Amino acid sequence: MIKLEDPTLFRTENYVNGKWVGGSAGHIEVLNPANGTLVAKTVNGSAENARDAVEAAAVAFKSWSKTPAKERASYLRKWHDLILENADDLGALMTAEQGKPLSEAIGEVKYGAGFIEFYAEECKRVMGDIIPTVANDRRLLVYKQPIGVVGCITPWNFPNAMITRKAAPAMAAGCTVVIKPDAGTPLSALALCELAERAGIPAGVLNVLVGSDAQAIGEVLTQHEKIGKFTFTGSTAVGKILMAQCASTVKKISLELGGNAPFIVFDDADIDEAVTHCVATKFRNCGQTCVCTNRIFVHEAIARDFTEKLQRSIAALKVADGFEEGAEIGPLINTQALEKMDALMADAVDKGAKVLLGGARHELGQNFYQPTLLTNISDSMRLANEEIFGPIAAVQTFTTEDEVVEKANATEYGLAAYFFTRDVGRVMRVSEDLEYGIVCSNSGVFSTEVAPFGGWKQSGIGSEGGKEGIADFYETKFHSLGGV
Ligand code: ADP
Repeated sequence: MIKLEDPTLFRTENYVNGKWVGGSAGHIEVLNPANGTLVAKTVNGSAENARDAVEAAAVAFKSWSKTPAKERASYLRKWHDLILENADDLGALMTAEQGKPLSEAIGEVKYGAGFIEFYAEECKRVMGDIIPTVANDRRLLVYKQPIGVVGCITPWNFPNAMITRKAAPAMAAGCTVVIKPDAGTPLSALALCELAERAGIPAGVLNVLVGSDAQAIGEVLTQHEKIGKFTFTGSTAVGKILMAQCASTVKKISLELGGNAPFIVFDDADIDEAVTHCVATKFRNCGQTCVCTNRIFVHEAIARDFTEKLQRSIAALKVADGFEEGAEIGPLINTQALEKMDALMADAVDKGAKVLLGGARHELGQNFYQPTLLTNISDSMRLANEEIFGPIAAVQTFTTEDEVVEKANATEYGLAAYFFTRDVGRVMRVSEDLEYGIVCSNSGVFSTEVAPFGGWKQSGIGSEGGKEGIADFYETKFHSLGGV
């Protein structure tokens, strides 16, 4: 049992239409990825339960969409405050179900709450237009109206923030939402509902349905006629399936999909800074984020120095159960993730990679993997092309700016890219030439609710965060008013 200051945040039923309800597909066992113990047994919702949730959200939409933005904002503000007051408990729930270090989990809870605060403010400032008329007896007005019920599917790697990033702008805009979190990490989502209820958010506005049959529930959320928009965070492969499903009802969509982030270090970079940020961007959440550094490109003149320092920093990382004081690297999410690391390593070593550190499962057992550093990377290796999603850092070298930019862009992904250089001209050139939705120079820190986060190419459609992150939850209406 997880120790919580407020045990009533531990919810295991679905939250639909303001009620805690069962699911018609039995139960789901939520396991702690650090030790395999049972954290919770939740209900298991079905496609039929999903349809009920959509119907409830459609009814709630009628009144929520007519609730003034200022009033919606005040509900959201209360929800935000309650989340911050309970951040430690929400963090503990997350570490238990997801494995990330507790400090990182609490950090995510605060980051996630930031979206609620921001969109509570932003929704008061979403404006229509009055266009200068083309005829004196007419007026030309443009309204922004909430798009309707929003279907959301979220992943396990950020069990809190991926929900608030979607639900907050949607609810702020006047939409109601039905969310299916990952079946492995439902507790964070359900605790958010408990706090939404305490904030007084009306029944049916926020609905969370936990279910192990993602495909069946996904079909409802992508195809139900009463859903106006569908938004998804997860893998590119699943994103494509869901995008195709949305075609049948021409549903508006937003997709936050996979990444293959380059981390480029030029020969004039501050090497110590670059190493620090390389470790942070590579190993956050045990390497399991779509913006994690995936390919490290270092200029040949500094490769030796950089790699030695990187090796020392990686060797110093503390691998431990996320609840242990000072833990920096927790377990991978499950056995499949562990098996993927084994396969990527075998492929890389087979093709000539040199292992400087790690390269195998960790002695802590369960889903722990050793922080790993590889050099001698070639383009044919799987980890040079696929999203690694684990604690393996792979260093390649380059000679010229043009060469490295071309290599960095040689991927179907386009989410985040990092580079380090002190040359101002190069900062601008490289920033402009990288085909990525997020470009980060001389730092690895960028995530914030006030700026747009979204991918180019097959990394997604649309943005979350910033003014862009609420825009897609409105439909535009042009009213041509005659007889003036
Ligand atoms: P990851 O590799 O991060 O687990 P996935 O894309 O597999 O990413 O999963 C992200 C979310 O998508 C999860 O909530 C999962 O349950 C859901 N999901 C996976 N497959 C499908 C599907 N065919 N239809 C709908 N949802 C799915």
